Amino acid sequence: MSALEPKLQSIYELVLQRNPGETEFHQAVREVLDSLGPVMAKHAAYTDARVIERICEPERQIIFRVPWVDDNGRIEIHRGFRVEFNSALGPYKGGLRFHPSVYLGIVKFLGFEQIFKNALTGLPIGGGKGGSDFDPKGRSDGEVMRFCQSFMTELYRHIGEYTDVPAGDVGVGGREIGYLFGQYKRITNRYESGVLTGKGVGWGGSLVRTEATGYGTVYFVDEMLRTRGGSLDGKRVLVSGSGNVAIYAIEKVHELGGTVVACSDSGGYVVEEKGIDVELLKEVKEVRRGRMTDYADARGSGANHVAGGRIWEVPCDVALPSATQNEIEEADARRLVDHGCVAVAEGANMPTTPAATQIFAEAGVLFGPGKAANAGGVATSALEMQQNASRDSWTFDYTQDRLAEIMKGIHERCAATADEYDVPGNYVVGANAAAFVQVADAMLALGVV
Ligand code: GLU
Repeated sequence: MSALEPKLQSIYELVLQRNPGETEFHQAVREVLDSLGPVMAKHAAYTDARVIERICEPERQIIFRVPWVDDNGRIEIHRGFRVEFNSALGPYKGGLRFHPSVYLGIVKFLGFEQIFKNALTGLPIGGGKGGSDFDPKGRSDGEVMRFCQSFMTELYRHIGEYTDVPAGDVGVGGREIGYLFGQYKRITNRYESGVLTGKGVGWGGSLVRTEATGYGTVYFVDEMLRTRGGSLDGKRVLVSGSGNVAIYAIEKVHELGGTVVACSDSGGYVVEEKGIDVELLKEVKEVRRGRMTDYADARGSGANHVAGGRIWEVPCDVALPSATQNEIEEADARRLVDHGCVAVAEGANMPTTPAATQIFAEAGVLFGPGKAANAGGVATSALEMQQNASRDSWTFDYTQDRLAEIMKGIHERCAATADEYDVPGNYVVGANAAAFVQVADAMLALGVV
């Protein structure tokens, strides 16, 4: 990463000083600031209005106690968060993450990214994020339900279809959204479908929402490959992770003629030259809530489980990091480049470290940053909100076409903005600059609020 211009550097230092210890948040801010030099030079009004300083300060941050009783009758206490970051474009929108690593710095990095990601979708949604340090892994359904009910007993007063609309993220899927929605409905006595997205299709959810993040990431990488006359057809692909994003990325890669030869979890990765069996993976992860070792056991001799290994050591043409933040480090990026990887698209949020991103840029690897590449999930959440508002439900094909169109639009917008700032093919600058300008213009129009 190059040095920031003096004005941006002083803003960054203020962010460091005001948010001590929140390293992931610092990283997310630094990455956006890195793209903004030419944008600020072009739009003098942003400096006078102190738009960047305002964007870096969340509109509201809520931290609350989440007490609940486990299956053994023991009282557990977790911490809940909701950071309502920016509502210039619409109600705060973004997921909830339940994972032991969650603290304010993680929620703020995710919320900050979400502002720009949501702007890129072209749909009227602001940015927010929330979650808890609760770990659903190994918990019974009853425990997860009681946790979700306690979490919502505080959260309900802060959300609403015109205010703030949470959804899922790591550790929060259909089961959790169901329990959260049930408690919201009970407390408020309102069947307010638009207050949460990622709902079940039988009770206000949208078709394609489950698949949307993974599918969208694959549409995006396919668009990138097409700029160089290629496509996913016949490509060897790595997809890290094995959760919701990874599963549906694998499914769509296979549909488009590529082969996903490996996927992973925190315990290691599985390589399978013939391609990962996505139906089995769904069964193991979504029904049995199992691990990659369970997948490998069920698969038998065709699949090789490498305990503790790094998936990026497997040769590939295309890499889709879809697990978690900072999972591709400098050495991983070098290895991917050495093995001939031509494209990387981030299915997860900020999975590539700044040093690794730099290596991809220098090697001319097509690189789709998460706020563009994985925006299909939240975009389809916005489509779910549209369906809820009109008390309608759309078909799978219609919704999938809308998603594909949105991803194509995001790709075009990033590419055109990169051209505008004389860095053709740089999707990082394209995404950051396009999204920032949209949010900044709205903030100028709305005054100092
Ligand atoms: N958590 C997802 C994301 O990172 C989806 C958020 C949503 O659907 O609101 O974009």
